[in-house]
Amino acid sequence: MRFILLVVLIVVAFWVIRRALHSFNKPNIPEKPPIQGELVSCARCGMHLPRSEAREVGGALFCSEEHASLGSGKG
Ligand SMILES: [Zn+2]
Repeated sequence: MRFILLVVLIVVAFWVIRRALHSFNKPNIPEKPPIQGELVSCARCGMHLPRSEAREVGGALFCSEEHASLGSGKG
């Protein structure tokens, strides 16, 4: 009966070692976090903000509705 227990322990040990070696050969490469949005600069004030938060008016990007209504021109 002890012999069987020993065999089971050896099999389990081999299984654990094989799993460890397998995971060692394939290291987990941390995936790059998805880019929320590229940084763009406001055409009015030049402030940088994520593209997803920018307002696009006439092909130009703005940081806020206010700057979008003012436009990219100076003054
Ligand atoms: Zn702005």
